[in-house]
Amino acid sequence: MDSEIELLRAMIKALPDPVFVISESGQYLQIAGGKDTAYYHDGDGLKGVFLHDVMPEDMANWFLEQIRETLAQNRLRTVQYALFQKDVKGLEEAPGPDGDIHFEGRVQPLPITLRGERAVVWAARNISSQRELEMKLQRLSETDALTGIFNRRKFLEQLDRCFRNFKRYNRPTALFIFDIDHFKRINDSFGHSAGDEVLCRLTKNCAAQLRQVDSLYRIGGEEFAVLLPETNAENACQQAERLRQVSEQLRVEARDSAVKIAISVGVSEFADTDTSIEDVMKRADARLYEAKRNGRNCVVGG
Ligand code: GH3
Ligand code: MG
Ligand code: MG
Repeated sequence: MDSEIELLRAMIKALPDPVFVISESGQYLQIAGGKDTAYYHDGDGLKGVFLHDVMPEDMANWFLEQIRETLAQNRLRTVQYALFQKDVKGLEEAPGPDGDIHFEGRVQPLPITLRGERAVVWAARNISSQRELEMKLQRLSETDALTGIFNRRKFLEQLDRCFRNFKRYNRPTALFIFDIDHFKRINDSFGHSAGDEVLCRLTKNCAAQLRQVDSLYRIGGEEFAVLLPETNAENACQQAERLRQVSEQLRVEARDSAVKIAISVGVSEFADTDTSIEDVMKRADARLYEAKRNGRNCVVGG
C-alpha cells in the first residue's frame, strides 16, 4: 500500500506537463508536474496565491472566466492562450524557455469541493512549437514561392473580405489586375530563368510603389492583382498608371541584354450593383482584355 502511494506521488511529480488545481475564486490550491525547464518555468511558488496577485487583471479575469465556464458546463473544456514569463509574478527569475509560451489548457471540474469551494484541474501543455509550425504552414499556403508575395488563394480570400466590407459600409474600394505583355517572348528569347528574374524584379518594384494599405498578389503565371481599399476608380487608375510606368522603366540583365517589359492593366471599382466578387473580377478582366486589344502597355479603367 505504501509503495502504491509512493508510486502515485512520484507519478504526479513526474507528470510531463504542469497540472494546477485552481479554486472557483481563483486561488492556486495545488501544483504538480512540468519540471522540465526546456518547456516550463517551475510554478511551485504559485501555491496558495490568487490569479489576480500574480498576473495582469485582464489575464486573471480571462482565467477566472474559463474556470467558471468549465464549472457551469461541468465538462472537460480545451482553451488556448499565451503567457509571457514576465507576466506571471514569481516566475520572472525561474529558469525556463524565453519569450512567450503558447499553451493548450485542458480544464476539468474537480469532483470534490475544497474548503467549501468548487475547483478545476487545469492541465497546461506547451504547444509553442506546433503553433510555430501551424503559422509557417499558414504563411506557405498564402505565399507565392517564386516572388514571395501573396498568392491567388490569399487574393480570393482578401477580395471576398473587401467585398463584404464594401457591402456593409459602402466605402469606395477598387481592384486592378495586370498582365505582362508578350511575356512568352521573354521566356523564348532569354530563357525561363530570365523570365523568373523579370517576375521577381517587377514584383519588387511594384510593391515599393504601393501604399501601405494596398496589397499585391500574384494570381497567375504573369498576372498580378492589387486591392485598394478606400479608393475610387480615378485614384485606382492613377496607381495603376504609376505601376505601368515603373514596369516600363524596368531593365533586367539577361544574356548581355537589358530585357524590357510592359504591362497591361484593367481597373475595376466595386459597384452597388455587384452581387459577388465574380462581378468585380469580370469587369477587371474585360478591361485588361481591352487594354491588350488597344495595343498593350496601357491602363483601362472605369
Ligand atoms: P500577352 O501580352 O497577350 O499577355 O502575351 P503573353 O505572351 O504574356 O501571354 P501568354 O499567356 O501567351 O504567355 C504567358 C507566358 O508566361 C507563358 C508561360 O510559360 C509564362 N509563365 C507562366 N508562369 C511563369 C513562371 O513562373 N516563370 C516563367 N519564366 N514564365 C512563366
Ligand atoms: Mg501576358
Ligand atoms: Mg496572362
